[in-house]
Amino acid sequence: TNQPAKPALTLYLAAPRGFCAGVDRAIKIVEMALEKWGAPVYVRHEIVHNKYVVDGLRAKGAVFVEELDECPLDRPVIFSAHGVPKSVPAEAEKRQMVYVDATCPLVSKVHIEAQRHAEAGLQMIMIGHKGHPETIGTMGQLPEGEVLLVETPGDVASVEVRDPDRLAYVTQTTLSVDDTKDIVAALEARFPNIVGPHKEDICYATTNRQEAVKAVAPKSDALLVVGAPNSSNSRRLVEVGAKAGCAYSQLVQRAENIDWRALEGIRSIAITAGASAPELLVNEVIDAFRARFDVTVDIVETAVERVEFKVPRVLRAPA
Ligand code: SF4
Repeated sequence: TNQPAKPALTLYLAAPRGFCAGVDRAIKIVEMALEKWGAPVYVRHEIVHNKYVVDGLRAKGAVFVEELDECPLDRPVIFSAHGVPKSVPAEAEKRQMVYVDATCPLVSKVHIEAQRHAEAGLQMIMIGHKGHPETIGTMGQLPEGEVLLVETPGDVASVEVRDPDRLAYVTQTTLSVDDTKDIVAALEARFPNIVGPHKEDICYATTNRQEAVKAVAPKSDALLVVGAPNSSNSRRLVEVGAKAGCAYSQLVQRAENIDWRALEGIRSIAITAGASAPELLVNEVIDAFRARFDVTVDIVETAVERVEFKVPRVLRAPA
């Protein structure tokens, strides 16, 4: 044929990328609940922050709502992977609703930490993003106003505490590892006796995906992160890529969102995906590059993950 030759492109595929064990479990919980109880099954908040996943589950009979009072009393309700304030399961119990908690076990672990510190008489500080459901859920493990939120080192300077010697902190699981180190350092500088987790509460999946991006971003002309705009961990991957020296670092939900003009002339691209983005969407993006370039895929693996979480017992038992 006399088609012009496609330009050569090295595609660095970050590994690990995409689904983490908590997301995998949360999606399974909705699917198994639909099998066990039939449709509709209600889900409080997007089960994971990905439109493709949510649309797929909706097509199978899941109904997504923001609050419990939007659910009928006689249908089961599932709480999203991000976790919920204590008031939510309490309310479901009061209404005698059947509920399944899809909160990631690594988020539940942070909830327990926060409660344990509060019981020991320490005032809690949370490092997280204001308004993100995980932050709302973790802060909601204690009475309103008990947990102080800090988002930046600047917030640390202005936070007003009851007793500077009786403090502890927890973090959101999907933060930037490096930015969080700075905030923790600021906390420890101002409050030398503050108690914190052994590492931080940032989960293995967040840490590994950021490490993988650091390995691919510096050698790539551009980085695309497959993920949703409301996905905290996906947005952090874009930032990590930019900080690691990648001139063009962007979030894309689907192949159709790729800005080809911005990518004109590139010879290498790095691709990763947030913890809530299905591999199918990564393949869609790779195929879009194959259509325009002569692609050589180079998988850059910086960690191997073997974490798996069981679904709650109620879904494992026969109906
Ligand atoms: Fe759990 Fe981490 Fe996945 Fe969040 S990103 S669901 S904390 S494994």
